[in-house]
Amino acid sequence: MAEKEENNLMEKIVSLCKRRGFVYPSSEIYGGFSSCYDYGPYGAELESSIKKMWWDYMVQFREDIIGLNSAIFMHPKIWEASGHVSGFADPLTECKNCHTRSRVDHLLEDASVIADEKMSEKEIADLFKKNIQKIKCPNCGKSDFTEVKKFNLLVKSNLGNFTDDWQKDPVYLRGETCQGIYVNYKNVLDSTRSRIPFGIAQIGKAFRNEITARQFIFRTREFEQMEMQYFTSPKTEMQEYEKLREYRWKFYTEYLSIKEKNLKWHKHDNLVFYAKEAFDIEYNFPFGFKELEGVHARGDYDLTQHSKFSKTDLSYTDPETKEKYTPHIIESSVGVARIMLALMTEAYTEEKLEDGEERIVMKFPVKLAPVKVAVFPLLKNKPELVKKAKAVFDVLKYKFMCEFDDNGNIGKRYRRQDEIGTPFCVTIDFDTLENGDVTVRDRDTMKQERIKIEDLQSFLNNKIN
Ligand code: ATP
Repeated sequence: MAEKEENNLMEKIVSLCKRRGFVYPSSEIYGGFSSCYDYGPYGAELESSIKKMWWDYMVQFREDIIGLNSAIFMHPKIWEASGHVSGFADPLTECKNCHTRSRVDHLLEDASVIADEKMSEKEIADLFKKNIQKIKCPNCGKSDFTEVKKFNLLVKSNLGNFTDDWQKDPVYLRGETCQGIYVNYKNVLDSTRSRIPFGIAQIGKAFRNEITARQFIFRTREFEQMEMQYFTSPKTEMQEYEKLREYRWKFYTEYLSIKEKNLKWHKHDNLVFYAKEAFDIEYNFPFGFKELEGVHARGDYDLTQHSKFSKTDLSYTDPETKEKYTPHIIESSVGVARIMLALMTEAYTEEKLEDGEERIVMKFPVKLAPVKVAVFPLLKNKPELVKKAKAVFDVLKYKFMCEFDDNGNIGKRYRRQDEIGTPFCVTIDFDTLENGDVTVRDRDTMKQERIKIEDLQSFLNNKIN
């Protein structure tokens, strides 16, 4: 796709999200609040379906994985043990002309220069200087930047600290959800019948002082992660890792019905020192293939660090072989909003109709559609139609997420439901009053069929569940 078309698709998605109540910019009436977004009625539904599907797939379908919900605030030492206090930093520079701040690794990437994650501040600054003639500010196009500085991404708070110099001793908002899993590993082991190998899954908010929050909901400072940490023996770590990679790939291709051509594996060449192997699953977003989720083999780094810093023995003794070791961890980590953006990209369709008109339709898989059924009386000003439609709606709403709409002409109502991706529209007309049947219109084929009211629930149930 040409660059212009790509940007265009992104603009169209952003505009649809606002227009139709998926995603709103935060604090808009106050002039906005950079990098934060609010989810409108359909966005909230879509998010909740994504989380439910992830949870079913990762917890309910698996006998060896259990759930957890740990607090956002934790002991500050956790972030020292994890390496975030000293090492969770991105290199930053500012354009001297327009004052746009950018991540140096992103600017290098845009100029096709690859920076190594392990590089020191000085090394990355040197690489930046060496390539400066290729690098342009993404906002104004000039090549005049401030010195490169590393900036720590942890967000600090004064929780429980009532002094003025709380900054010296901050409590952090968690930068990732998995630390809450590591520090509860022993609790889970002691309070359940879990035996290695087993996994702990969690969904929750994480916070990062991202230097450049870019590309709509792709990168924000407050975001929701879905993470699963799987505890293995050192001997089976890589075998389990391969299984996890395959399982996660199927989540997207089979369970969420994302087209395989829009997904690919990206292998990390420059691993952090403790990692055994790291792959990302990338999705073909409107701005190109970018990280959707990380599937990483982390060795025994996490529990070794927490053992050391907490002075708690986190080793495991195999009940059968009596072998004692610090568990190795493989992880799957993804942001809810990244899946949502991938699904919006996947679903967005523009169609030319036979009568020459155009329609925009979000072709979400039925199980992900925010609203499953819309119920319309053909005319708003005919009380007998409205009454009958309400009666149908009042039955269906207990089974499916439904919407009642009697506004405007039927064509307009269809267009609106197409744009939010509603798979079925049920219309009550004068024939309904005579014959007891309704029109069910299919979102994708736009075909209409007459269904008896008494059969409607099972008809929809077969299509939706
Ligand atoms: P990047 O290199 O893009 O900053 P990362 O490699 O640091 O990301 P991880 O720490 O591996 O990301 O986070 C795991 C997952 O959490 C990512 O694959 C992504 O889906 C999600 N994620 C991370 N940061 C953000 C963010 N700022 N906004 C939204 N989702 C995020």
